[in-house]
Amino acid sequence: MSDEVENIPNDLLPRILILGGTGEGIELASRLSQWGQVRTISSLAGRVDEAKRPEGVVRIGGFGGVDGLESYLTKNAIDVVVDVTHPFAAQISRNAELACARSGLPLVALIRPPWVQVTGDLWHEVADFQDAARLVDSRSGRVFLSIGRQEVESFAGYENAWFLIRAIQEPTGRLPRHRDVLLQRGPFNLDEELRLLQDHSINCVVSKNSGGSATYAKIQAARLLGIPVVMIKRPAKHTVPTVETLESAISVISSLTQAARR
Ligand code: NAP
Repeated sequence: MSDEVENIPNDLLPRILILGGTGEGIELASRLSQWGQVRTISSLAGRVDEAKRPEGVVRIGGFGGVDGLESYLTKNAIDVVVDVTHPFAAQISRNAELACARSGLPLVALIRPPWVQVTGDLWHEVADFQDAARLVDSRSGRVFLSIGRQEVESFAGYENAWFLIRAIQEPTGRLPRHRDVLLQRGPFNLDEELRLLQDHSINCVVSKNSGGSATYAKIQAARLLGIPVVMIKRPAKHTVPTVETLESAISVISSLTQAARR
């Protein structure tokens, strides 16, 4: 259970807990801070060293499940929770829905739209990381594995394919036998991605369907080079209504906080 009480300025401004770890989370904290009508507390899981710290109060680390999050919301007198976590971070979103329902707090869920195939794309959509691993290994080949470091372990134990694994920080779990690891942080541009795929003679790309622009260049590069992409579909994340843009999220936050003041 979380006993955390944050050092939030003690004024009458509504308190917004931003569940972040994404570019949108940083942007939202910055936009709300400029607006000046609310206090933001950005929550990060603490998986990677963040390149940029969100404006406002920042807390780091898990809450301790639904109970911990519920207790955190009460202790810190949170008024609105905004979930801007990554489309593949499903657990924290489920926890947020349950904790908000129990606390009677509004939850604003922002999820960026997924990428969609366009002419020239050669996608093989799969349900999860295990299916992706089985598929690429059955075809041998030289695979660009750009899925972050947490799920790389799904590819351990496969020996036919060679993997170029790109992650922000060194993966800690088991790795596939034939591989190189490349530590890089996005965003990446198209020229860089074209060069990377060509320099390593890549003939298959594995990607999560993250959506957004920061990591889309590898999909464009694969299209231009005629390289197939094994695209991992998103997990089920929300059961509540969602918004797709920061503008929509800010507009909902604005209505909720004005209603709270009346
Ligand atoms: P997850 O599977 O949904 O969550 C696992 C646990 O991590 C949660 O139950 C929670 O622990 C903790 N957690 C996750 N996000 C948190 C947050 N923003 N603040 C506090 N605790 C958090 O999440 P994940 O896929 O491991 O992702 C972790 C973080 O990395 C998220 O914030 C996400 O936005 C970011 N991220 C994820 C991906 C991805 O591909 N999964 C990519 C880019 C960024 P407790 O139960 O103890 O509260």
